[in-house]
Amino acid sequence: MEMLWLVRYSEIFLKSDPVRRHWERILIANIKTVLPTSHVNNERGRIWLRGEVDPEKLLRVFGIASFSPCEMVPLTDLVPAVLDFCSRNNLTASRSFAVWVKRVGKHKFHSTDLARQLGSVISETYPQLQVNLDTPERELFVEVRNDNCYLFTEVIRGPGGIPLGVEGTLVSLLSGGIDSPVAAWMMMKRGCRIIPIFIRLERYLDETTAARVSAVMERLRQYQPDIVLKTIEDSYLSGAKQVLAGEGAEKFTCLICKRRMYRLAEEVAHSCGAKGIVTGESLGQVASQTLDNLQVLSKATTLPFYRPLIGLDKEEIIRIAREIGTFLPSTKPATGCTAVPEKPATTADSERIRRLEGLIQARGSSRRIPGDHNSGERNVLP
Ligand code: ATP
Ligand code: MG
Repeated sequence: MEMLWLVRYSEIFLKSDPVRRHWERILIANIKTVLPTSHVNNERGRIWLRGEVDPEKLLRVFGIASFSPCEMVPLTDLVPAVLDFCSRNNLTASRSFAVWVKRVGKHKFHSTDLARQLGSVISETYPQLQVNLDTPERELFVEVRNDNCYLFTEVIRGPGGIPLGVEGTLVSLLSGGIDSPVAAWMMMKRGCRIIPIFIRLERYLDETTAARVSAVMERLRQYQPDIVLKTIEDSYLSGAKQVLAGEGAEKFTCLICKRRMYRLAEEVAHSCGAKGIVTGESLGQVASQTLDNLQVLSKATTLPFYRPLIGLDKEEIIRIAREIGTFLPSTKPATGCTAVPEKPATTADSERIRRLEGLIQARGSSRRIPGDHNSGERNVLP
């Protein structure tokens, strides 16, 4: 009797043959990355793992719909093997059970016949166990594949989605708060490799926020093992705040700051071939996330924006954050941004914002001397 793991994938089987093969290869490579010592092979819509398997790791590989630890037995030994399996897996301690059979290959019997036959042998051998197909206490699954059978009792739900990497790369603006890690995770789940970017606003964001981002990164790394955070130290906001104060336009601070962040993200995206920018905005959640403001923000760059949280309530976002493990690190105490004005604007017109940005740029250029950071110079830290 051989122990192995049966892995099922979700949407891959809907694809054309070449796409399916390509996605399967990527999924298998992703499994091998997290389980380097296990042996992986695939066969018509299923992946089999042998050797050392940590199920916790499988829970974080996108594209896996579900998986089951199982035992393989030859079809010729099925009946005694099933009886032995029931006793070793404690099915005999329950009162009711159901047998479900799936079959692939040429056989002289139907799946339902085999299920019925196994059900009656089991209840004859263990009379306390009664067949109950509606509300069984325990379930026994039998997959017959040609001359072999796979027995299991558990179907563990995987993370779903499609394999990481099949859709290419996106940059993701990561503040470390509750929303942006969830947004990054949702795009990973749809096959996008993520390059997270944290913009460290000189003077206005301190160590506590940077530490929170690092803690969040540890969780995201469980889903994308090669993820690397790009931290950009940026001094633009210091100069911008002076111009905005001079113009009586402090209420636009957050909008101007976000547009700057988006442009920085766009530069990184261009340098690494990323196809868009992910942010954690959700419609109406805070002042900068009104339809008007999102429109002004989106005009800051030419790359597409992906805002996977746009239609979710805060409660729904928190539920996902808890499930994926980012909630606790995201709620570590942090000072947050100290540049936020008392009453941030909920609406703005692009022309006004562009004019203010022109003034900020002009001020930066006129003051540009070596070592002067007010011009918006920045350091990209690895
Ligand atoms: P979050 O919960 O992700 O912190 P938020 O609800 O506080 O977001 P905002 O502060 O308006 O909302 O930020 C909107 C989005 O802008 C964030 O979700 C994130 O994608 C991006 N962002 C904000 N601050 C930063 C930062 N310092 N570095 C990188 N991205 C940022
Ligand atoms: Mg938010």
